[in-house]
Amino acid sequence: MEEFNVGVIGCGYVGLVTGACMAHLGHRVACVDRDEGRVAQLSAGRVQIYEPDLDALVGRNVREGRLSFAGSGGLARVVRESDVVFVAVGTPPGEDGSADLSSVAAVARGIGEALAKSTAPRSVPLIVVNKSTVPVGSGDHVSMLIREGAGNRGEDLDFRVVSSPEFLREGSAVYDSLFPDRIVVGGDSREALDRLRELYEPVVQQTFPSGLDPRPKTTVPFVTTDLASAEMIKYAANAFLATKISFINEISNLCELVGADVSSVAYGIGLDERIGPRFLGAGIGWGGSCFPKDIAALRSTARERGHDPVLLDAAVAVNEGQRRRVISKLQDDLGTLEGKRVALLGLAFKPNTDDLREAPSLEIARALDARGARAAGYDPVAGKAAARLAPALSVVFDPYEALAGAHAAVLVTEWEEIRNLDPARMARVMEPPKLLVDGRNAMDPAAAREAGLLYRGFGRG
Ligand code: NAD
Repeated sequence: MEEFNVGVIGCGYVGLVTGACMAHLGHRVACVDRDEGRVAQLSAGRVQIYEPDLDALVGRNVREGRLSFAGSGGLARVVRESDVVFVAVGTPPGEDGSADLSSVAAVARGIGEALAKSTAPRSVPLIVVNKSTVPVGSGDHVSMLIREGAGNRGEDLDFRVVSSPEFLREGSAVYDSLFPDRIVVGGDSREALDRLRELYEPVVQQTFPSGLDPRPKTTVPFVTTDLASAEMIKYAANAFLATKISFINEISNLCELVGADVSSVAYGIGLDERIGPRFLGAGIGWGGSCFPKDIAALRSTARERGHDPVLLDAAVAVNEGQRRRVISKLQDDLGTLEGKRVALLGLAFKPNTDDLREAPSLEIARALDARGARAAGYDPVAGKAAARLAPALSVVFDPYEALAGAHAAVLVTEWEEIRNLDPARMARVMEPPKLLVDGRNAMDPAAAREAGLLYRGFGRG
């Protein structure tokens, strides 16, 4: 296997996982982040985000000298020494829903400046791989910014921009990076795409040491396309998955009206291979750092070009409706929420992550506060961060403490620990009517009722 010198700019969920996995494949990786505190922690082998297997991977590769970290001051050196530089900085939603590209722009200009300043000529062009989710067409924009950063040397620079969207799921990011369903790269330089194929060879052929056996895959499809299509693949994938969830939520609301059980319906339709069983969980809907912002950006791209994205609009409307249904389900059994105590079980936007960006829990906590209810929340890992983000929420560090004296509980995030709470103990510590709104249909309704809880799921009795 050919070893590459890899640079990664941005050490968040995507950048850090990409860097650690590239090092695990045997490449030499230098990561840059503007957050100096984060860099200091990472250099000492300490990982600031919660992601299964990431600690061990970072620690081992730092110790073995294949993975290093630097602050923004190290950008020029990393660019100079790398064959490939990944850009993995954040692209949060701006006021109008379109993606805020200021971090990507700052990094692109920095790369241009570094290339312009480097005195030694490159034997092969630098490949800049954009992993940040940027609107369709941004690949060209990144090239322009790199040239802009180089000032009057802009036209002499030797680099190629490739888009390689990231599909990892928070909560299983390391696993998804080593065993992806596909790798997508898009660009107009055949040479650059071929070089990336070599960089990813150990993943494509699944020849790297795993440690996560049994190895689930034998080979991984490597999709090459043009820039715009690669960027669109990312948006289309997320929009499809979010729409699939909104679809089952629409069906779930109809199930409630006709007395059907959405769990059976989802199972029944999911067995059709054209549909598939995943992303058919009815409940309080999607959130997190990707779906809301990517769909907002795609809708905004559509509107900028005079197209009305009716299906995407509907997916968002259904999702917003699901949050309101949590509140109406509470009101149906509690009457007014004024003065009522409500426990939120799980706060992260999904299990196995500490990420609270666009987490339904925060929205529900705000809605409860606005109606005069008092909310206590518990999460196995996201509690501390939630306490900072939701001042009205009293965060506790034991689920039964959140439930003590609560008139109702909302199961928000289906962590294993929360699915396995003991309904009898829940009922013992709660106050009547001991309502459980199961926002993820994660508990057994019969067992909950038998224990004395007033169980309300989504799309089922
Ligand atoms: P993040 O916020 O966790 O991390 C971004 C990092 O970039 C931070 O550490 C920040 O300090 C650093 N940074 C910002 N500006 C910088 C600069 N100018 N120079 C150096 N470092 C800088 O973000 P993330 O979740 O890793 O997402 C990164 C991108 O990948 C986004 O575009 C996102 O849409 C996309 N993406 C994320 C996921 C996911 O599950 N999180 C999945 C697929 C794609």
